[in-house]
Amino acid sequence: DLVVVDGFNGVVILNPVPATVQQYSTAAAHFHDGLDSGESAADVPLKTLDGTEIRLYANSDTPASFRKAQQFGALGIGLYRSEFLFNRYRGFPTENEQYQAYCEIAEAAGDGGVKIRTFDIGADQLLDQNKAREKNPALGLRAIRLGLGYRKLLRTQIRALLRASFEQKIDIVVPMVSGITEIRALRELIEHESAQLKTKGKKIGMPAVGAMIEVPSAVLMVEELVDETDFVCLGTNDLIQYLVAVDRDNEAVAGWYRTLHPAVLRAIKQVIAASAKAGKPAVICGEMAGSPYYVPVLIGLGATELSMNVHSISKVRKIVAGIAAEEARAMIATVEHCRTVEEIEEILGEHIRRNWGHLFPPDFSFAA
Ligand code: PEP
Ligand code: MG
Repeated sequence: DLVVVDGFNGVVILNPVPATVQQYSTAAAHFHDGLDSGESAADVPLKTLDGTEIRLYANSDTPASFRKAQQFGALGIGLYRSEFLFNRYRGFPTENEQYQAYCEIAEAAGDGGVKIRTFDIGADQLLDQNKAREKNPALGLRAIRLGLGYRKLLRTQIRALLRASFEQKIDIVVPMVSGITEIRALRELIEHESAQLKTKGKKIGMPAVGAMIEVPSAVLMVEELVDETDFVCLGTNDLIQYLVAVDRDNEAVAGWYRTLHPAVLRAIKQVIAASAKAGKPAVICGEMAGSPYYVPVLIGLGATELSMNVHSISKVRKIVAGIAAEEARAMIATVEHCRTVEEIEEILGEHIRRNWGHLFPPDFSFAA
């Protein structure tokens, strides 16, 4: 069967009529227009209609995908998911394999830099399947917890990162942070490995350290986390999953995974406000940042740095350039009293249709 998959709007059309095929073929062709213009969109700072600069970054794992993102206007790499190397090397990559990969991506990212997240894997990807069986893997031994439990592996990764950051702009991002303990433990590890590498005469850099904010306790501790880190990255995919206790991969509860839940908006606002108060960057790097519909919401909540999949960048640019930040903030103010996600979806959907109808489909709705 012929199937159209419209990932931007969450629509799948089975056996489309010829007119629909035509409509999507045209859209797909225009999708690549930005690439063909020959000019890099990054040359001009991206601003809202009322002059707020919004900085766009790419979630990129390869130099080739970042180069494409750069043509769309990405300033650097906001999220490099290092666990991708497990696929490339079919297992745990050695220090030198990692060093090589980090040097390549940092070189491609240039002055914009790359935020490399330490391995965000579960026990099942590292250990014997029987040993790794967990009742709740999403709440189990994964990400930084796994790294701190199997320190030799984390130390190998830290050494590769320290070496690769010599004269290259690499920042380290810690996944699944629940509080200050993980940040201090990682900093200690960095200090220890730096000292060892220096005594061996190795050239190393001093990467900045940031926390992924994706666990509710990290939101409640955000002021302290911002104080003890150089930046934070808001992982909205997991943040929503953990805030509303809905498995992001379980279709049976997909209807409960609600991005505009009042608790989600409150959490995002709190994180952005704490970072702004401390004068440190907060990069939004979950899928929300790459969804044109949620971009006005994020800007209304105060976001100025968004990191997204390469193919979302040009769409997001158009939205940013077509709205006023003040209006987005006013829109968010109208839902601050709301107690349910349904009310918020209704009010925001109506605002978007009425005020930004030229940027979104006329029948657009947030409701599932
Ligand atoms: C997130 O959780 O929002 C995120 C960016 O990380 P991942 O999707 O890799 O869990
Ligand atoms: Mg995550």
